Amino acid sequence: MGHWCRICDRNRANEKFSAKGRKNHICKDCAKKPKEEIEIIDQEQEIFRYLQQSNISAKNLSRLERLTKSQNQRIAELATIVLEVGRIKPNKRQRLKFLAKEHRELLQELDDAGLIMAHDW
Ligand SMILES: [Zn+2]
Repeated sequence: MGHWCRICDRNRANEKFSAKGRKNHICKDCAKKPKEEIEIIDQEQEIFRYLQQSNISAKNLSRLERLTKSQNQRIAELATIVLEVGRIKPNKRQRLKFLAKEHRELLQELDDAGLIMAHDW
């Protein structure tokens, strides 16, 4: 049946995983990547997850604040946008509609950063 790798985000054959890799959802190929690279991918997915949650908590916001200071420009950028969204509209319900009405530029930034998809509308 294979196993899912969280880093390359796909199902791979069982033999592509060590026992430890299976547990951590990381295949042998990805496990060879530099630690920083793995960390960046994890952080990017983490930021995307905050937007999918029904609510962005205060704890999430302080985590995002830390991520805005990332050495990685993409992570810092994504975190800055999602942090702003979380402050303005932590609750996911009607968020995009609200942003479209009241915070058009922020919605545009979300879109430009690839943080929202057409089907989110
Ligand atoms: Zn992988």
